[in-house]
Amino acid sequence: MSQGYIQEIFSSFQGEGAAVEGSCYGLRQIFIRLAGCPLAQGALGTKGCIWCDSPEAKANHLKQCLVETEAGSQTFENIKNPVTEKDVLKHIRNLTTNDLHSISFTGGEPLHQPEFLERILTLLKKESYKTYLETAYTEDVEFLRRISHLIDFACVDVKDRSTEASLDWKVLVNREIEMCKILKDNTRVFAKTVVSKSSRKEDFEVIADLCGRIGIPIVIQIVTPPDNSKILQPTWRQITEFSEIAAQHLPADKVGISVQMHKNLNIL
Ligand code: SF4
Repeated sequence: MSQGYIQEIFSSFQGEGAAVEGSCYGLRQIFIRLAGCPLAQGALGTKGCIWCDSPEAKANHLKQCLVETEAGSQTFENIKNPVTEKDVLKHIRNLTTNDLHSISFTGGEPLHQPEFLERILTLLKKESYKTYLETAYTEDVEFLRRISHLIDFACVDVKDRSTEASLDWKVLVNREIEMCKILKDNTRVFAKTVVSKSSRKEDFEVIADLCGRIGIPIVIQIVTPPDNSKILQPTWRQITEFSEIAAQHLPADKVGISVQMHKNLNIL
């Protein structure tokens, strides 16, 4: 048995992605938001992404985990962390609905609790659940290789330089592309890049080129600026330019844009 730290477990719809292979956009999922993010904890020399949309999940050891009591109710109970993989399975069973597509692992960074994640994935596979991984970074690519057969769908968050998630942006981007490559053998995977008004064409070109080389679809996600921040959404011209740049490296059906549906609906 293994134990781990989770921020929240709830039922909702996947709010990110587009009509590209690997995306589960608009499909019903149960979300497991694991605690801890190595990028936010300085793994690559910064405090993580400047527009982090899950700041509560940055810390490793959250005392409490919020669990939705009934699918769709948006009412929650607090349970004590750490929890076991069997606890997680129990809550997943309770939140399972007939339209459930898959179980989404998000964060924080789900790969930051490797043993715990592997145990949950193994249990879920035994019960024929489909799984979806949302990831941005791991130091242990061999672990990712080992568990890739347990993951059906994956979104690798390939960070734009303007996120400031790494002191050396190229190191991070190359790692994320390596992760896409590893996942590709067993998993339907796509890359997601969040763009803002400060994103630059030449940086996006680097990402599009790398995705094109390995044939990974790319979703251009328009940033949802956090409250009271100075971050601005890209202009429509920028969005169309990014899409056209991506299509210079990938077929048009491997390129799409995305806004965070859940933020627009004001749901989890
Ligand atoms: S990788 Fe995710 S959790 Fe970590 S700082 Fe960036 S947005 Fe936040």
